[in-house]
Amino acid sequence: MKRRSVAILAATGAVGQRFIQLLEGHPWFDIAVLAASERSAGKKYRDACLWRLETEMPKEIGEMTVVNTDLKSVKEAGDVDLVFSALPGDIAGPIEETFAAEFPVISKAAAHRMDEDVPLLIPEVNPEQLELIPVQKRRRSWSGFISTDPNCSTIQLAITLKPLMRFGLRRVIVVTMQALSGAGYPGVPSLDIIDNIIPYIAKEEEKIETETKKILGTFDGERVRPANIAISASCNRVDVKDGHLEAVCVDLEDKPSVEEVKEAFRSFIGEPQRLKLPMAPERPIIVREEIDRPQPRLDRDAGRGMSITVGRVRSDPVMSIKYLCLGHNTIRGAAGAGILSAELMAAKGYI
Ligand code: NAP
Repeated sequence: MKRRSVAILAATGAVGQRFIQLLEGHPWFDIAVLAASERSAGKKYRDACLWRLETEMPKEIGEMTVVNTDLKSVKEAGDVDLVFSALPGDIAGPIEETFAAEFPVISKAAAHRMDEDVPLLIPEVNPEQLELIPVQKRRRSWSGFISTDPNCSTIQLAITLKPLMRFGLRRVIVVTMQALSGAGYPGVPSLDIIDNIIPYIAKEEEKIETETKKILGTFDGERVRPANIAISASCNRVDVKDGHLEAVCVDLEDKPSVEEVKEAFRSFIGEPQRLKLPMAPERPIIVREEIDRPQPRLDRDAGRGMSITVGRVRSDPVMSIKYLCLGHNTIRGAAGAGILSAELMAAKGYI
């Protein structure tokens, strides 16, 4: 595979740091440009970034100079084939459009997720949405494009719902227990969250309820028809560093047995596994049988942070089946997802 140079926008944040960590030694991608806000521009990365990951900041990355997040500054800083955007949602929209006129942009932000001609991609779940890229380029007269990854709590939910579609998935109720790193750095003040649970995360419930239908929808050659599923989400912030836990209840028309549902989870694979993409976990879903799993501390790093761990699969007296699922929010829910999306695009010739 030809090597590609990448730029990371918002390289100093929680997700930007994870991109840097996961791209170290990547067989296909090299980091060429790091961009962030005016506060960081002009500084060495090691001076601009409060590195908060347990592994060391790569030395050569620490020596790179951070540039402003505009097309001219990024182009002057290096030759780039691909842009990863971890920009805050409220400013990402127009900035990503400027870059997309020339470059492929893989975005972690919400701004363009629900645009009709923009993929909302989970490589194992809906690789066909990549076919929106030529539609978008034609419509917008861009040489590049924008492809988005879903919200972190939506990604892990949708991965577990996909294998249940064959049983006639009709209704979903999900209650999330979301980690602190999902709020970025420094995120939630410690005095608000220690000894506490905050039963509200701005815009999160709406994202889960709308994005999931697009992810599981049907692509008709021009647009995605949303899946006909009713989804209700309640989101909570909990005192956990990394790893979102979700209690999920599903109504399945065909009333499969618990064992059939577990087997559907266990046997689920997608394009990344068939293509053996570097970031792909061997198993997208791991089913645990212990009565008290999954747990954030014990299960978030499964499959190098790219597997979703499911447990406590059981019958539900109101709906059909209930289970818990857990995913690493800054790896499978953010940077790891972005890299896997880029790998799929590279393997399929979109970049
Ligand atoms: P964060 O830790 O708060 O980092 C914010 C980043 O944005 C920093 O690099 C900051 O640069 C940069 N930034 C702020 N204002 C800017 C501006 N005006 N121009 C250019 N850069 C600017 O946030 P995060 O958790 O990394 O989240 C980044 C994005 O990913 C958000 O859209 C978020 O919703 C999404 N996301 C996050 C997660 C997660 O688990 N955290 C998961 C999925 C998606 P400076 O350091 O220079 O200020």
